[in-house]
Amino acid sequence: MEHRIADNYRIIADRVAAAALRSGRPADAVGIVAVSKTFPVEDVQNAINAGIRVFGENRVQEARDKIPQLTGDFTFHLVGHLQSNKAKEAVKLFSLIHSVDSVSLAQKLSLEAAKLGGIQDILIQVNTSGEESKSGIEPAAATELAAAVITMENLRLRGLMTIGPLEGGETAARKSFVLLRELRDRISGAIGQPLPELSMGMSGDFEAAIEEGSTLVRIGSAIFGSR
Ligand SMILES: *Cc1c(COP(=O)(O)O)cnc(C)c1O
Repeated sequence: MEHRIADNYRIIADRVAAAALRSGRPADAVGIVAVSKTFPVEDVQNAINAGIRVFGENRVQEARDKIPQLTGDFTFHLVGHLQSNKAKEAVKLFSLIHSVDSVSLAQKLSLEAAKLGGIQDILIQVNTSGEESKSGIEPAAATELAAAVITMENLRLRGLMTIGPLEGGETAARKSFVLLRELRDRISGAIGQPLPELSMGMSGDFEAAIEEGSTLVRIGSAIFGSR
């Protein structure tokens, strides 16, 4: 088990590094979030023991169950949709929340981060594919949300996140990724601050995402196995 996850991770890390070099960036320019949703806590502990440090979960409850059982040096990101009533729990558990998609959620997160005396790092999730099943704000509304977020004292806006389309293969995926990068550049100009992170790319499309500028890939099944 331990070796399988570590071996998978090493293969993915090599492919990530190679894609970063192809995109004209250093081999270590792209971070890997190991998405452990649905996998047992033993698998996550084995991954930590093998040196993996950054994990992703898509549900607050699942993270809240797993995290207290783990030991070692690790951090968790929230990659799934977040409801406002879970904001309080989320700021305690996650070093980066990838899925902020409304002003009201951002306000709640800032308030809860303030209560803890901290600053919460966040990304704005954008629906770049137009698929209805996807959460995330519409591209046309993202600048306004970013402008609101940067006025919130206990949030730090680090960039944008998207989920590639289910349909349409690599061509459609690349279109989504290019859209997110261009949107990031526009928003960054509009709000007058850099937005260094682009969270895009999963097991099936991370190399295309990196070639289009991803700085964070969210990889689940290619590391932990099929769900
Ligand atoms: C599950 C999930 C991933 C990882 O998906 P894989 O295809 O298993 O790599 C990435 N991002 C989000 C938002 C997810 O929910």
